[in-house]
Amino acid sequence: MNRLLNSIIENNRKWTKEGQVASYIPELSKVDSNLLGICISTLGGEEHCAGDSDTKFTIQSISKIVTLMLAILDNGKDYVFSKVGMEPTDTSFNSIVNLEIKDAHKPINPMINAGAIATVSMIAGKDSEEVFERILKFTRKISNNPNIGINDSVYKSEKETGDRNRALAYFMKGTGVLDGNVEEILNVYFKQCSIEVTCRDLARIGAMLANDGIMPWSGERVVPRDVARIVKTIMVTCGMYDASGKFAVQIGVPAKSGVGGGILACVPRRMGVAVLGPALDEKGNSLAGIKVMEELSKQLDLSIF
Ligand code: GLU
Repeated sequence: MNRLLNSIIENNRKWTKEGQVASYIPELSKVDSNLLGICISTLGGEEHCAGDSDTKFTIQSISKIVTLMLAILDNGKDYVFSKVGMEPTDTSFNSIVNLEIKDAHKPINPMINAGAIATVSMIAGKDSEEVFERILKFTRKISNNPNIGINDSVYKSEKETGDRNRALAYFMKGTGVLDGNVEEILNVYFKQCSIEVTCRDLARIGAMLANDGIMPWSGERVVPRDVARIVKTIMVTCGMYDASGKFAVQIGVPAKSGVGGGILACVPRRMGVAVLGPALDEKGNSLAGIKVMEELSKQLDLSIF
């Protein structure tokens, strides 16, 4: 397995030259675009990694699956999906247009920014600090890494420049989708996006989902099977932004990407997989990361379809 992963990384390194690192969050533009790493975490507890698999990067939108799980655990799926839709989108992750014209102003799904901001507003806590602490604690638990923290410079950079997310949030407050203090909700959202992880951490989260909500390393159930099922389904239909259909055809597993260059994938009943490649394609997905996933899926026959 290690030999296979090393050769996949080497075969696809050339693609890191093609994409662009995210620059709309200034701090992300400083990330090394040549990084490429992969880690696999199997349900039998084996871990295999290659390339820059222990390099830290910000989780960004991959945190949206963590907050979706917490929001459902706190409120039940019916309540969460009464506020946020479950349909794929054909517009970009930070688009505002559907909030105006579709589905009584409900964000179209929990994986776009508007939907994720609405989702985080439903997580329980006496104040925004407690809400974020719960998100961080849950992330540490499901990645089996108690040392996970946030990247402070990225957090500040997001907060300073996040006017587009502010616009989405205030629009949702205006239409009654969002309850509570908008700045505090956004503060949690900016922090959750700035959580720093490695491929190894994300592969373990993928393994927990692949194992229907049970952490393979301890046998402990962290989310009910039904919650794991919902999250994986939303990942298939919405996880790769408006390129989710193409990803499903070419790779065929539930996955979620982030503009930090990570992709978390899960192969039901087999393994979690995470890749890092900060240079992004025009949709905001890791360009080389998708190529790596494509080769891995072919080699190991991973598609669930
Ligand atoms: N923090 C990023 C934003 O809100 C997350 C976007 C992403 O990873 O898709 O724009």
